[in-house]
Amino acid sequence: MLEHDLEGKVVIITGASSGIGAETARQLAKRGCRLTVAARSKEKLEALTAELGTDVLPVQTDVTVRDSVLAMVQTTIDRFGRVDVMFANAGIYIPGQVHEGDPDAWSELMDVNIDGVLYCVHAVLQQMKAQGSGDILVSSSISGFVDIEWEPVYSASKHAITGFVHTLRRQLAPMGLRVGLVAPGAVATELWDVTDPEEIARLADVEHSFIRAEDVARAVVFMLSQPPYVTIRDLVILPQQQDI
Ligand code: NDP
Repeated sequence: MLEHDLEGKVVIITGASSGIGAETARQLAKRGCRLTVAARSKEKLEALTAELGTDVLPVQTDVTVRDSVLAMVQTTIDRFGRVDVMFANAGIYIPGQVHEGDPDAWSELMDVNIDGVLYCVHAVLQQMKAQGSGDILVSSSISGFVDIEWEPVYSASKHAITGFVHTLRRQLAPMGLRVGLVAPGAVATELWDVTDPEEIARLADVEHSFIRAEDVARAVVFMLSQPPYVTIRDLVILPQQQDI
C-alpha cells in the first residue's frame, strides 16, 4: 500500500547530505520516489546518489541563497517535470547561554532555519498551484512547540517555523495543497555530533534518550502516505525518555 502510494512521486529534500534528510531519501527511494537531494556538501550528495540509483538528482544548494533555491527547483522540474513534495529539512543548531552567544552565528542560524524554509516553500508554490496538488513538509522541532531554556535562539527559529507552517496550511488548503511539520525531540545525528553506530545504539536502545534519523524518516513517509483528504499537521516524535 505505502509503496504504491508514493511510487513515482517527485520529492525535493533539503539537508539531504546527512541525518534525517539522507535517511528520508533512502526510505523514499525504496518506495519508488524520484528525488532531488539538496545540501551544500557536493561529495556527500554524490555518494548518496551513487547509493540510491538513477532516479536521484543531486543538486548542490545553499538554502540561504534565493537564486540557489530557485535553481534547485527549476533543475528538478527540468529533470522530472513536476514537484510533488518539498521537504524543507535543512537546519542548524546552536544551544547555550544567550549572554555567552555569538549574534553573528545566530544570524546564520536564522538564515538557514527560517529564511531557508521560506525560500524553499515559496519556490515551489507556482508549480504546485498549477498542478493543483503537492505536499509541503517542514522539519520543525519539539523546540518549536515548547520553550527549551538551553537553546533559546534555536527554539525561537523553530517557533517561527511552526507559526509559518500552521498559517500556510490554511492559505494553501483551498488550492488542494497539504502542509505539515515533523517535530522531533533528540535525534542522534551530526547535529549533536553523534555519528558512531555504537554510541547511537547506546543512546537509543539502552538509554532511550535519543531516537534515530531512520525513526523520523519513517514518520515522514507515514505523513506523505496519507490519502489526499488527510493532513497530519504536526507529528511530534520523541525519545521515550525525553522529559519535555
Ligand atoms: P544534520 O546536521 O545531520 O543535517 C543537517 C542538514 O542541513 C545537512 O544535510 C546540511 O548539509 C544541511 N544544511 C545546513 N545548512 C545548510 C544550508 N545553508 N543550505 C543547505 N543545506 C544546509 O541534522 P539533522 O538531520 O538532525 O537535522 C535535520 C533537521 O531536523 C534540521 O532542521 C533540525 O533542526 C531538525 N531537527 C533535528 C533534531 C535533532 O535532534 N537532530 C531535533 C529536532 C529537529 P550541508 O552542511 O552539506 O549543507
